[in-house]
Amino acid sequence: MNVAALIGSPVAHSLSPAIHNAAFAAAGRDWVYVAFDVAPGRAGAALEAMRTLGLAGLSVTTPHKEQAASAVDSLAESAESLRSVNTVVPEPDGQLVGHSTDGDGFVDSLMAAGVDPAGLRVAVIGAGAAARSVIDALARSGAADVAVVNRTPSRGTAAAAVALTGRVGTLDDVAGAELVVNATSVGMETSEIPVPADLLRAHQVVADLVYQPLRTALLRAAGEKGCITVDGLGMLVHQAVRQQLLWTGERPDPAVMRAVAEEELERRR
Ligand code: NAP
Repeated sequence: MNVAALIGSPVAHSLSPAIHNAAFAAAGRDWVYVAFDVAPGRAGAALEAMRTLGLAGLSVTTPHKEQAASAVDSLAESAESLRSVNTVVPEPDGQLVGHSTDGDGFVDSLMAAGVDPAGLRVAVIGAGAAARSVIDALARSGAADVAVVNRTPSRGTAAAAVALTGRVGTLDDVAGAELVVNATSVGMETSEIPVPADLLRAHQVVADLVYQPLRTALLRAAGEKGCITVDGLGMLVHQAVRQQLLWTGERPDPAVMRAVAEEELERRR
């Protein structure tokens, strides 16, 4: 049996074990995925444990992503400019390679909704870890312009610098964008909206990284305007799809992962 794991703190409410184990089972794979609550500052020790225990894959979440980037033997392109790792892959020679599947998972979720970000003018609201991964992946996917709108200007400037096509934006950029992305935590388990709804336009695609609730106030407002909407569960599922592809060499079924995640969210309501 192969064992894959998640390290983070807290991890008790993570959907990742349900998502990964459902996909392993559906593919008839003799793998199991478990979550470990690892204290802040102990990511390096957890990576050493991964080597010692022979874990076949590791997911890394808050607060360990930056420390994991320093503790791996090398970084893949997806993690290099971010210096942030959410996936560790043990190579046959024992080397641990750090990847970031968050941003590419977000782009995959757009593509699955029929939205190709290449050439689009994008406004990303937020400048935290998730926003940075999204900005980086959108730029690598050919977005024409990525305007970063954030409450704290200095963090917005730093996040915009992640990508060549990134720049600091204003609320005017939200109104003018073809794709609007909420990468703040605003709307998580509340009915708050990160930008005034009157900035949204019918021709826009509006994506939210928040997935609790699945239909956030932002997505409801966007839907009422006639926008195409993309919820945050797509990113969660597709970053996990990429993780399993890296660990096993085969692409799991995103529909299986999504179904179990939706069931789990429903159970928690
Ligand atoms: P983070 O690093 O803590 O960043 C939070 C961001 O939200 C910052 O830009 C912060 O602005 C902004 N913010 C927080 N409260 C705000 C408020 N009241 N008004 C305006 N801006 C506010 O968090 P993160 O890791 O990037 O995660 C952000 C969200 O994405 C979370 O809800 C998380 O659950 C979600 N997420 C989803 C996925 C997925 O797979 N769907 C993956 C990762 C994260 P300041 O800079 O001004 O503080």
